Amino acid sequence: VEGAGAELLRLAETDLHRGKERRQARTPVDTRYDLLQLDTDLHVAIDSGALVAHFQPLYDLGSMRLSGFEALARWPHPSLGFVPPDVFIPVAEDNGLIHAVGEHMLRAAHRFLVADAGSTRRMHVNASTEQLAVHGFADLVADVFAQERHLLHRLTVEVTESSLILDHERVSAELAALRRLGVGVAIDDFGTGYSSLAQLQELPVTDLKIDRALVQRGGAVGHAVLRAVMHLADGLGLSVVAEGVELPEQLELLRQLGCDRVQGFLFAPALPEDLALALPDMPHAA
Ligand code: C2E
Ligand code: CA
Ligand code: CA
Repeated sequence: VEGAGAELLRLAETDLHRGKERRQARTPVDTRYDLLQLDTDLHVAIDSGALVAHFQPLYDLGSMRLSGFEALARWPHPSLGFVPPDVFIPVAEDNGLIHAVGEHMLRAAHRFLVADAGSTRRMHVNASTEQLAVHGFADLVADVFAQERHLLHRLTVEVTESSLILDHERVSAELAALRRLGVGVAIDDFGTGYSSLAQLQELPVTDLKIDRALVQRGGAVGHAVLRAVMHLADGLGLSVVAEGVELPEQLELLRQLGCDRVQGFLFAPALPEDLALALPDMPHAA
């Protein structure tokens, strides 16, 4: 994408980012949760294996078949109910527990792929900047999959745009190591960060995940931005996943624009492992 398309994208990214800041300013999580207490409780939760992985399905937009899952961390807290990851992941990033959370999620992803043997479905796991900024994340992945190295080709690691900017060199090196293992790399929440298009081009990435703010935006400008992102991904040879698809008209637009895969409440939320494994090949919403 060059010229007008690039300019449009840049404007849209700035605009979306401002919107995100406004939303965050309106909903301070700190008032509902005692962060110090969460910090303590999270140690216990990880040691006792209380943290679980749920799995949200992804569908191939061409065939409308189940193409894979994203593993999302769930924390059933003894007195607070389910604490959302938007609350406890930042706590874990701060206190260093994110490495234990990440390993736990990788093992859950591995178990799922073993249980789903014989299929070609992929598994996406999220990785925080903190995990990628230290040497050894790719080694950990290789370790977890040591007995079933062939399953590495069904794994994709999702990283946010911001992690690529904060520690570009280190993170790129780790992503390149993942690619050498056969692991896919997705840029998560695309359209909310500041990553320059030039930077994207240099990165060892395979997928672009369009943020739900962009998917749900609508209107003439929203459509134009989506089209530009799709064009960009095409030019870079990346596979596009749209997340946060909630409405049939959003699905229709994405189909017209040639999006590769979709994920969202229109199909299913993240499900416990047994339900995810039992999902039919075609969604009800198709
Ligand atoms: P994310 O990676 O962007 O994950 C997508 C989020 O969107 C999930 O929220 C998912 O439940 C939600 N979602 C899916 N479809 C829809 C939809 O149609 N509409 C709406 N409104 N939302 C939808 P969740 O599970 O609460 O996770 C929030 C964030 O927490 C994730 O955002 C990710 O950044 C982080 N996170 C979750 N699990 C992990 C993990 O294991 N490791 C790391 N590092 N971060 C994680
Ligand atoms: Ca993600
Ligand atoms: Ca995302």
